[in-house]
Amino acid sequence: MFSLSGKKAVITGGGSGIGKAIALVFAAQGAQVHILELNAAAGEQVVAEIQEAGGQARVHSADISQQVQVLPIFNQIGPFDILVNNAGIAHVGNLENTAEADFDRIYNVNVKGAYNCLYAAIPQLKANGGAIVNMASIAALVGITDRFAYSMSKGAIFAMTLSVARDYLAHNIRCNSISPARVHTPFVDGFIAKHYAGQEQEMFNKLSRSQPIGRMGTPAEVAALALYLCSDEAGFVTGCDYPLDGGFTKLNN
Ligand code: NAD
Repeated sequence: MFSLSGKKAVITGGGSGIGKAIALVFAAQGAQVHILELNAAAGEQVVAEIQEAGGQARVHSADISQQVQVLPIFNQIGPFDILVNNAGIAHVGNLENTAEADFDRIYNVNVKGAYNCLYAAIPQLKANGGAIVNMASIAALVGITDRFAYSMSKGAIFAMTLSVARDYLAHNIRCNSISPARVHTPFVDGFIAKHYAGQEQEMFNKLSRSQPIGRMGTPAEVAALALYLCSDEAGFVTGCDYPLDGGFTKLNN
């Protein structure tokens, strides 16, 4: 079960955190992995790790917010089967402390970046069908304090997932999203270091407790769900969002 043997997968942001875990798991399951990364050096390290384990991978240096960079890379990769729109950035602030530049930055990477990859991918996937997973967040589903721009961007991911799933049913393209609560990645460590210097452990514990299950998720746990959604075993699953949240959205009472 869950073999990706003979499949080609494109993963954005595969150089770190959740995207890295997805790249490692997909390669271990037999996929040829293509990582699109702003941080090409980080992507190269993941490629080396995959190759050492006997898998196949390559990195393509790209800023997904730039369509002019994204389109030629997808053409170069050629026919493929799986797209994981994972790359994303964070912003902390309510509406009043979200400057126009902050809003644009989050929009350009999280929303337009996903659109750019979908725009490049769909014409190729239409030939033989395929599977898409978009990385949303619980911020798309519930109100989170001080996440105005980030929530906006993940709500857009949620809605784009439904739209693409609907429009390409006849082309056998399945499109789903995953909505994680806090997952322990460099994204989280960077956030704590930047905003809570000197109180790192206290903040880590607080962020862990915000999931009713009492801890953060792991990148590998997100990767396991992404693997299922991109596998042939999930052939009946499309147009769905999957909260992966330690009880955050339904048990926080
Ligand atoms: P991360 O910061 O560890 O990794 C993100 C990767 O994306 C980095 O390697 C970065 O270089 C790359 N990237 C950023 N901007 C890019 C761009 N413009 N073009 C190409 N690559 C770019 O983050 P993570 O925690 O693994 O998060 C991955 C995804 O999961 C994001 O979309 C994030 O919003 C989402 N998410 C994370 C959490 C969490 O708690 N970590 C929770 C919910 C959702």
